[in-house]
Amino acid sequence: MHPFAYHSATTVPEAVRAAVRGARYIAGGTTLVDLMRETVERPDEVVDITALPLKEIRPAKDGALHIGALVTMAEAATHPAVRGRYPVVSQALEASASAQLRNMATIGGNLLQRTRCFYFRDVSAACNKRQPGSGCAALGGYNRMHAILGVSDSCVATHPSDVAVAFVALGAVVQLRGRDGERRLPLAELLLKPGSTPHREHALKEGELITGIEIPAHTRSLASGYLKVRDRQSYEFALTSAAVALHLTGGRITTARVAAGGVGTVPWRLEAVEEALVGQRPRPGLWSEAARHATRGARPLQHNRFKLPLLTRTVERQLTEIGGTL
Ligand code: SF4
Repeated sequence: MHPFAYHSATTVPEAVRAAVRGARYIAGGTTLVDLMRETVERPDEVVDITALPLKEIRPAKDGALHIGALVTMAEAATHPAVRGRYPVVSQALEASASAQLRNMATIGGNLLQRTRCFYFRDVSAACNKRQPGSGCAALGGYNRMHAILGVSDSCVATHPSDVAVAFVALGAVVQLRGRDGERRLPLAELLLKPGSTPHREHALKEGELITGIEIPAHTRSLASGYLKVRDRQSYEFALTSAAVALHLTGGRITTARVAAGGVGTVPWRLEAVEEALVGQRPRPGLWSEAARHATRGARPLQHNRFKLPLLTRTVERQLTEIGGTL
């Protein structure tokens, strides 16, 4: 492991100052420490942020729910306000990683966790994300786990988070603190598709810290849930997943929020599926008709063509499940 300096911050401004001078934030350490051991990440300094006061789950302005960035995945998953109002978030968290990791990993870190592409983690492989301009070993390699949506000729890695898929479906907003003060950004705008610059994974400014995430109030009345399809039932990343949130008024679907995981270079909102649902009365056949739009724009690779029908079926099954509760 590359030698590094360790510093523990007690205030947010102190942590931000350290990050501005080049330190990497560390909280649960469930991504960064692995990558440092594998020499994929070689920071000269890390700033420990676990003592910062960012561990609250509380009501926020206009009825939204605030989840502090240092709340662990396990705490968020089991909190009554999350479980009661946003089952899709609880279910996505409980489908993630292992119980041990969920006790350590934080919500903020989960959103910024780095891809599980095995070529990214193998420092002998070509990888534009790890080393810009070096190529992409996955394009002509073994790409069964890789993305089919939002891909580019530079990178086809999936975003690994489950809960980010649920948050994107609900239109959640991240709260940020940097040297210029605070700002807010929809999560869907924070995470970047690879394009020709896959090493740029997010829209954070230099030294900026995620301090929390807010789920808007209007989504708390939605019936919602998360379905994850994976090779084994525990401690495995998604092949496909679907976060679904629906609301019915006067017998018609008035709100439909649908996003997919395991298939996109970022958590992927399925707007074509949503459009096929809004205004409709639930009926036999509606869910499968809408789910057919899930793969619009998909670009499969040699080994992951199976994700096309799997994604359609995942979305259909979760729409059927949630639609049945309306
Ligand atoms: Fe690297 Fe992306 Fe290619 Fe994986 S898919 S090898 S992360 S450039």
